[in-house]
Amino acid sequence: MGAQARIHELLAAGQTVSFEFFPPRAEADDVALHATLRELEPLSPSYVSVTYGAGGSTRERTHKLVVEIARDTSLTAMAHLTCAAHSHAELEHLVGRYADAGIRNILALRGDPPTDANLPPGELDHALDLVRLVRAAGDFSIGVAAFPEPHPASPSLEADRFRQAEKLAEADFGVTQLFFEARHYFDLLESLDKLGVRKPIVPGIMPVERIAQIERMVALQGSEFPVWLRDRLEAVGDDPEAVRQAGLEEAAKLCRELLDGGAPGLHFYTLNRSRATREIAALLGL
Ligand SMILES: Cc1cc2nc3c(=O)[nH]c(=O)nc-3n(C[C@H](O)[C@H](O)[C@H](O)COP(=O)(O)OP(=O)(O)OC[C@H]3O[C@@H](n4cnc5c(N)ncnc54)[C@H](O)[C@@H]3O)c2cc1C
Repeated sequence: MGAQARIHELLAAGQTVSFEFFPPRAEADDVALHATLRELEPLSPSYVSVTYGAGGSTRERTHKLVVEIARDTSLTAMAHLTCAAHSHAELEHLVGRYADAGIRNILALRGDPPTDANLPPGELDHALDLVRLVRAAGDFSIGVAAFPEPHPASPSLEADRFRQAEKLAEADFGVTQLFFEARHYFDLLESLDKLGVRKPIVPGIMPVERIAQIERMVALQGSEFPVWLRDRLEAVGDDPEAVRQAGLEEAAKLCRELLDGGAPGLHFYTLNRSRATREIAALLGL
């Protein structure tokens, strides 16, 4: 395996394009994901990332997949890691295993509290505590989650922006939750700038392929599904392929607006499939 690049250095060198995957649950899904990786590799993403199950379900599979990507493909990998339901010692051990495997990029998250009552509560309260642990453990490029619309647990927009600034000040870069209005992203940057924080924040992009699917996601994360976007998708009628196409075109428009406004890159939530990402990349000429 070649040396893995460090993401904040890639961001400093030019616009990045990155893809996010989740670890497959079954062997058949594993085969499909490896096909997706092969289909997306020709787009030469700057890096790819693999999510981590805060609830405990996919912990080992995340490590396995991140190490496989770094070892068996030409891609730079980033491991998501959550501190929910982990002890300090467990986290140090996990981060040490990544360092030993040559992985140099970690997205440090709190995660959502696990629903499994058998899991002990975590020893670290917030993502910032994990940023500090990872920083102390090795030479990593450290990303954190950023929220253009406030995190649903935040008591106010002001409190939310303050906590994000505090966390980003110690991290190297941020990757955002999905959103559909460019103004949310630019508002976040403005707030952070006022708080003296100017780290690269990569917008997270998910095209609407089916209205019901996005409705579930935005409800979970407490963000907005804009009326104009719903109207635009409903206007094309009942044909699922026409809805998908309209969703892709709107996602591509959002990407252009973000890049024109100075976004340092684009991070695509692939849901382990390549088609939508390949089609948006083609629309954008990537
Ligand atoms: C790009 C991206 C990738 C993600 N990947 C994963 C994944 O792989 N696995 C997974 O389980 N989840 C993932 N998530 C979801 C994330 O874990 C949840 O949104 C979680 O609820 C918050 O995580 P965080 O890292 O932002 O936490 P934190 O930064 O700890 O923030 C959580 C809440 O606590 C508040 N807060 C922070 N510090 C303090 C403090 N000192 N005192 C009081 N309040 C405070 C914040 O304002 C916020 O409301 C991802 C999210 C994003 C945007």
